[in-house]
Amino acid sequence: MGEVAVHLEDQLGAVGQRALEARQVGRAEAFLARPVQHDDVVELLREPVGELPGSVRRVVVDHEHRDAVLAERAHHPLEVLPLVVRGQADGRAHVRIIAVVATTLPRNADVADQLELLADLLEIEGEAAFRVLAYRRAATRVRETGGPVAQLALDGKAKELPGIGATIQDKIVQIVDKGEIEALSKRRKTIPPEVVEFLQIPGLGPKTVRKIWQELGVTTLADLKAAARAQRLRTLPGLGARLEENVLKAVGRKKKATGPQRTLLGRALPALLAVVEVLREHPAADRVSDAGSARRRKETVRDLDIIATANDPAALIDYFTKLTWVSEIAAKGPTKATVVSHEGFRFDLRVVPPDCYGNLLQHFTGSKDHNIALREDAVRRGLSISEYGVTEVESGEVFTAQSEEELYERLGYEYIPPELRENLGEIEAARKGELPKLVEPGQLHGDLHTHSHWSADGKNTLTEMVEAAKACGYTYYAITDHSHYLREGRMEQQSKEIDRLAKRVAPLKLLKGVEVNIKADGSLDVPDDVLAERDWVVASIHTAFDRDPTERILGVMENPHVDCIGHLTGRKLNRRGPMDMAVEKIVEKAVETGTFLEINSQPDRLDLSDVHARLAGEAGVKVVVSSDGHEVAALDYVDFGIAQARRAGLTPDQVANTRTWAQLKKLMK
Ligand SMILES: [Zn+2]
Ligand SMILES: [Zn+2]
Repeated sequence: MGEVAVHLEDQLGAVGQRALEARQVGRAEAFLARPVQHDDVVELLREPVGELPGSVRRVVVDHEHRDAVLAERAHHPLEVLPLVVRGQADGRAHVRIIAVVATTLPRNADVADQLELLADLLEIEGEAAFRVLAYRRAATRVRETGGPVAQLALDGKAKELPGIGATIQDKIVQIVDKGEIEALSKRRKTIPPEVVEFLQIPGLGPKTVRKIWQELGVTTLADLKAAARAQRLRTLPGLGARLEENVLKAVGRKKKATGPQRTLLGRALPALLAVVEVLREHPAADRVSDAGSARRRKETVRDLDIIATANDPAALIDYFTKLTWVSEIAAKGPTKATVVSHEGFRFDLRVVPPDCYGNLLQHFTGSKDHNIALREDAVRRGLSISEYGVTEVESGEVFTAQSEEELYERLGYEYIPPELRENLGEIEAARKGELPKLVEPGQLHGDLHTHSHWSADGKNTLTEMVEAAKACGYTYYAITDHSHYLREGRMEQQSKEIDRLAKRVAPLKLLKGVEVNIKADGSLDVPDDVLAERDWVVASIHTAFDRDPTERILGVMENPHVDCIGHLTGRKLNRRGPMDMAVEKIVEKAVETGTFLEINSQPDRLDLSDVHARLAGEAGVKVVVSSDGHEVAALDYVDFGIAQARRAGLTPDQVANTRTWAQLKKLMK
C-alpha cells in the first residue's frame, strides 16, 4: 500500500459518518458524494442510512498503480488546469478552458458510456439503487464537462468535480490504463450483452430483467420476443399479459432505432454556438452560422454543421482544425473540414462563396423533407433549386441569394424560421403568408417549475435559485419542490423561508408552489386542503409508468387545485420512451378543465414533445414553458423549451407564462 488518504465527506452529515478504523483496504470503496439528482429517487428515502457507504472517501494508490499513473503523466506533460462547466469553473478564477489534449485519451463520451453501462449491469445484479444512481450521475457529469475528464483523473483532479469521487476517478484511470473499467470487464463475462437492453423496455425493471434472464434463460431480444409471444413471461410471479404486450411492441420498435446514438440538443447546442462564436471572431471569417438539425433545434442531433463565408477560406479552415478542443481531424480540404471534439461531437465546417451563402445555409439547415417539398413546389413553378442557386428553367437564369430571406422571397414564400422546416404544413402556410408568429426567447415572464435544496435532489439553496431568477429578469417565480421532501412540517418551514426571501427580492413575486406526485393508484400524495394553500401546483408521474397513466392524469386534472401537469409522458431521451398514453384524450381534458400542460425544458425530457405541444396548441391548451431547474445553471434551459415551443408552431399567446402573473391568474381554474 503506497498511500492511503482518508477524509470525511460532509454532504451526508454526521449520521452517515462511519467510525474510522484501521483495517485492510483492498480497493477504493464506493462512495456517495451526494444523494442522487432528480426525481427518480423516491425509493431512496427508504434506504437505511447506516448502510450508506458514502461517508468516507478513500483514495487508495498501490505501488503498481501509482507507477502507471506517473508513467501515463509523463506522456501527457500538459496538466489541465481549471475545469469549466457551463461557464462556471471549480470555484476559482480561470480563463476559458482550452487545454491541449492527447489524442490517446478516451473521450468523455466513451468514459460516460462505460459508467452508464456499469450502472446498468449493477442494476441487473441487484446493487443498491443509490450506488447505481451515483454512477449514472457521474456519467452525466462526465458528459457535461468541457475538458478531458480522463486527463483530470490522471492528475487526480477529477474527484473535485461534483458527483465524481475517488472511486469513480480510479475507474476512469482504469479506462486509460486498460481500455475498460475492471468491474465492467468482470461483469461482461457473466451478463449477456443483450440482457442490458431489456432495461429499455417500459415496465421491465432490473429485478424483472434478472428473473427473465436467470429463471427463463432468456438472453437475447429475439428470445425475449419469442418468450412474450409464447406467453412464457407470465409464468414468472408478478408478470402478466400487459407486460408481454409491452415487450412485443417495444422489441419491434427497437429494431428500427439502431445506429449511433443521437446527442441531446441541450448538450450539443452550447458547444456548437461556442464554436460559431469563436469562428466569428477570426479575422478571416465574414459570416458564420450554425446549420443542420441543431439550427432547427431538434431535441437530439447527430453532426454539428457550420456554414461560413471568409475572405481567406483556407485560413479559417486551418484555424478551425487547430482549435485546442479538437481531439481528431476526420477530414480537411481547402473549403471544408470535419473535426471531432473531446466530448465526441463531430463538427462540419463548410466555407462557401458569399454570393450563394443564403442558398447553402438554407440547404444545409434542412430538413431533407422540407427541402424536397420546396423543390417539388418550385418545379411546378418552372424553377429548379440546387444548393448553389435557383434556376429559371425556361430562361436558364440563375438566382443566388446572399441570405435565406432573399431566397424564400424569390421562391414566393414568407421567411420560414428554421424550427418550422419539417414539411409539416409550413410551406403551404408560408405561401399564403399565414405562418404563426412564434414565441421567442426572452418573452417569458416567469418560471413555474423549479427546485431548490428543499428537494434533496436540488443543488442550490432557495436564496441562490431566487436570486438567479431575479437576474433572469423574471417578474414571478414558482418554487415547486417535490412533495415527498416536504413532509413532517417541512412545507411550513419552507413557506417561512419563502416569506422572508420575498421581501428581499421584491418586486419579483415568489409563488409557493409544489410538485406533487401522482401515485400509482391515481391519487396525489398531498391532501387537497394543503394544495389549496399553494399558489401553483404541478402534478407529475414519477413512478409506476405502466399503471394506467392516461386514467391517472385524466383523474388528476379534475382536481381543482392542480394547475399544471409536469413532464407529461415521463420520457427520458436516449434512456426511456414515453409512457403509453392517449395524449389526445389528455389534451381534450386539459381544455375542458383548464389545466395547463408543461413543456419541461430539461434537455433529456423536452416533454411535451414538439408533436404533442402542437396538438395541445391546436386544441387550445395554454402551454407553460418551465425549466424544472434543480440548480442555478438549469434555469437557462427554458431556451430549449422555447425552441421546442417554436418547433410546435406556438405563439406567445399560446405560451401561458409569457403573461404577467395577474394575467395568468385569470386563466387558472
Ligand atoms: Zn418531476
Ligand atoms: Zn420537477
